[in-house]
Amino acid sequence: MGRYLVTGGAGYVGSHTVLALTDAGHEAVVFDNLRQGHAQALGPDVRLVVGDLADPASVDAILADGKWDGVLHFAALSLVGESMREPYRYLLENGVNGIRLIEACVRRGVPRFVLSSTANLFGTPTRIPILEDSGIDPGSPYGESKLMLERTLHWADRIHGLRSACLRYFNAAGADPGGRLGEDHDPETHLIPLVIDAALGRRPALQVFGNDYPTLDGTCIRDYVHVADLAQAHLLALDCLTDRSVCFNLGNGQGHSVLEVIAAVEHVSGRPVPYNIAPRRAGDPPVLVASSARIRAEAGWTPHFPDLQDIVRTAFDWRVSHPHGYAA
Ligand code: UDP
Repeated sequence: MGRYLVTGGAGYVGSHTVLALTDAGHEAVVFDNLRQGHAQALGPDVRLVVGDLADPASVDAILADGKWDGVLHFAALSLVGESMREPYRYLLENGVNGIRLIEACVRRGVPRFVLSSTANLFGTPTRIPILEDSGIDPGSPYGESKLMLERTLHWADRIHGLRSACLRYFNAAGADPGGRLGEDHDPETHLIPLVIDAALGRRPALQVFGNDYPTLDGTCIRDYVHVADLAQAHLLALDCLTDRSVCFNLGNGQGHSVLEVIAAVEHVSGRPVPYNIAPRRAGDPPVLVASSARIRAEAGWTPHFPDLQDIVRTAFDWRVSHPHGYAA
């Protein structure tokens, strides 16, 4: 069994991955500044170190604290729109602090590194589904900051032998099927929790950002992948890192429009979703759907919750049982 350091392990995808690690019998230590993460998302068996990647001394101290089998790096600012308004903050906090973390991992002899990367690397793609080698041209400083880390990991492998997995997430959604964890962002900007809250009457009508895209119903199409399936992909990716580094696109391989998500929430909740058509949101590409052929073939990954209604159901159940998120 391994011992893993998980930066951002109290966040949404991070906490689900910590659960997958500990469910599989590994030891996980979480390093998180708790600006977006929730200590309540961690089980009693998980040690939490509250610290910030901007502080090299505390990063170095935790890396020097015993032997690590790998580092899983989730901690990041993650809002595309915000990164367009504050580009240097994203390039510095995600990019520069992440490069420092990679350098410290090399110095401390960490053998393996898993990076939360993003579909935003592909900007506005011309070919769907998106392959790993499709044109990389980040759509925002957020995507650019992840590309900085992918490139740094390339050199850390070539020069120092640090093996890495870059996992380009498409749209993470859903909640732990056992009901132990869920999605709790402040502010919430993601479609599925917003649609659920509109159905539950906890928010005003959903704003659908544009219905004049070149898609069947005019709304944007995204590839929603269950967060538990994403978490499992991290464990499988670690197993690939015995003698090489890998990059995988990570989505279900199926696209759903905003109106299809609304219909799925109406079906699962049994309630109508009030919504208005609003202007397009700047920077939204019409369609983002991954090819997941490579991770299926090379890591043996298969999503257990490929169905949109199952994804929505787990998210809905958690929001009903946690009306105030982790604060409850
Ligand atoms: N979206 C929307 N209304 C909202 C939030 C999102 O219409 O209040 C749309 C958004 O334009 C995109 C899709 O839902 O097409 C998914 O957006 P989200 O922010 O969840 O993820 P993204 O694809 O931006 O990473």
